[in-house]
Amino acid sequence: MDDFVDIIGLQPLIDESGLELEGERNFEVIYSQLVSKQRHAHTVEKIERRIDDYFSNLALPDGATIYDRLLISLRSTDAVFTFNWDPFLFDAYERNRDAVPLPEIFFLHGNVRIGACREHDRWGARNGRCADCHQRFTDVPLLYPISQKNYSADPYIRRNWEAAETLFSEAFTMTIFGYGAPDSDTDAVKLLRRAWFAQGKRTLEHVEIIDTAPQTLLHHRWSPFTPTLHYHVTTAFEQCRIARWPRRSCESLFYPMTQGLPCEDFPLPSTDSIAELRAYAADIARHEDGLRLYAP
Ligand SMILES: [Zn+2]
Repeated sequence: MDDFVDIIGLQPLIDESGLELEGERNFEVIYSQLVSKQRHAHTVEKIERRIDDYFSNLALPDGATIYDRLLISLRSTDAVFTFNWDPFLFDAYERNRDAVPLPEIFFLHGNVRIGACREHDRWGARNGRCADCHQRFTDVPLLYPISQKNYSADPYIRRNWEAAETLFSEAFTMTIFGYGAPDSDTDAVKLLRRAWFAQGKRTLEHVEIIDTAPQTLLHHRWSPFTPTLHYHVTTAFEQCRIARWPRRSCESLFYPMTQGLPCEDFPLPSTDSIAELRAYAADIARHEDGLRLYAP
């Protein structure tokens, strides 16, 4: 988060507030300091709006992206948990949703494309309407001060964290894609780890990590999730299990474990054409009727 202030252009707003930074570059620390003083309320509001504008205006290119590839390579029995505010996963979901059944996405830190009805526990596209009361959704907050990361204050966010706990405890395997687990998320990582081991019978963990960080750093960061060290690191999405066995990532792991036979990979074609990718994924999806939910 050290470049965040420069990327979003927040420095003039911080200067205007008169806050003494004393060399601090971490936006989350700066934001927490601003929120803690009522006299900075106006600055906080302006910063929140600037961040929202920045991310809201981002858009996917027309050609296939890694977001399209990721989503169409997963099934509705999979789930995606993201800390990203940017709209790329949401937009990729919207444009691929009719092609093949997609996984549900859980936005653990909110997202610029979504809104929610607090009263009826419904959510959808920002500015959409609640199916129960027909009121417009209200925006989901993006920023949570480090000192008081209270994810239960907002019902939408709380529901997402509850889902994370439940689904992490039931998951057969997990892929961690480019998540740095910053110090400000220590509690979040602890919660997910607790959930991952909640069932008490997870004797062989299968965790895959897609990250370009040094191996020693990744080991330090993620070994608490893998006491038996069954984790595998790749530096590119194309090398990971989801990409090599689209829509069959769990089976690609389970089949060799139970049958003692390797299974050949069948990665998505390397093309910029979304239509071509969707056709390939749809062909795989045709065989999913009656494919049982994975039950270890
Ligand atoms: Zn409602």
